[in-house]
Amino acid sequence: MNRTPPAAAPTPTREELLRWLREDDASRLGQLWTMADETRRRNVGDAVHLRGLIEISNHCVRECAYCGLRAPNRSLRRYRMTADEIMACTAAAVEFGYGTVVLQSGEDDGIRQQWLADVIRKIKSETSLAVTLSLGERPEEDLAAWRQAGADRYLLRFETSDPVLYKLIHPPRPGRLSDRFAILNQLRELGYEVGSGVMIGIPGQTYDSLADDLEAFRRLDLDMIGVGPYISHPATPLAKHSGLRPIPPEQQVPNTELMTYKVLALTRLVRPDANIPSTTALATLNKDAGRELGLSRGANVVMPNLTPPQYRTLYEIYPSKACLFENAEDCRSCLKNRILAMGRTIGQGPGSRRQTA
Ligand code: SF4
Repeated sequence: MNRTPPAAAPTPTREELLRWLREDDASRLGQLWTMADETRRRNVGDAVHLRGLIEISNHCVRECAYCGLRAPNRSLRRYRMTADEIMACTAAAVEFGYGTVVLQSGEDDGIRQQWLADVIRKIKSETSLAVTLSLGERPEEDLAAWRQAGADRYLLRFETSDPVLYKLIHPPRPGRLSDRFAILNQLRELGYEVGSGVMIGIPGQTYDSLADDLEAFRRLDLDMIGVGPYISHPATPLAKHSGLRPIPPEQQVPNTELMTYKVLALTRLVRPDANIPSTTALATLNKDAGRELGLSRGANVVMPNLTPPQYRTLYEIYPSKACLFENAEDCRSCLKNRILAMGRTIGQGPGSRRQTA
């Protein structure tokens, strides 16, 4: 099966990726936005797919150096949603016309294999929603059981393809290896649609390593790719010791809104038919227009939040997240109006990655 439809622009070489990442001239960047938008339009069309996000647990056993949910953060009140609470959110997804729910959590061993398999089966038998999981590095048996229960997609960001930087910010669990590329392969073999992504502007991240990330997107043939800026959380080691890996200042990638748009646009050029969200992190950096600018520079997905308000503020990977105090209905109408005002349409159905014969 040929999975690469004709792109609007030739896929950039590594030298071009590096040149665009360092480009600051507004008129030249305008060409990049136009190429990304045209490539998006020709490959995945004008529909914007809405994936209802349900943050089912903020428990986490890991100690990622940048994340507010990390286990050592004792100031955070922890929650885990019940099956009934999750089903109430999926009912809202159906009512709002979403095609997918995304069940997201920290790496939470309290989410048992059988319990979640039962929840997935219930969602699949009572609705026509696609189910995406984003639950961290789970054993292969769990991933297989959830796929068998009907889960369609799995998101696992590799965050950076630089092995030294990865290791510095993702201490592995005692006695286990943390190899996200191997897990992405397992997911593909299990029949999931596979999503991954990176953080932009991690302290110690160089332009070369970010170009490597984009080359990894190209190589991995990902179905979904999420890119978002590094946003510092005060209760994390990375916020306190930003020099985990000192590099010359001119090599440090900035964690800015502009850099995020560049990476998003280049992601569209290297993987023309992937589903790419305009992320909440982008909307956090620019609450007025971040989401729309993401959608006009390569993205075709948004993820309205369905998490009940009493839990939403507790899912704090980084602070001051956009839409923290809106309810699910507010999120839906705000996003829908913004999409229609751009002349785009609302995607119908599950919105899987388009496959061409
Ligand atoms: S990034 Fe994910 S795995 Fe790491 S601490 Fe945060 S929630 Fe846990």
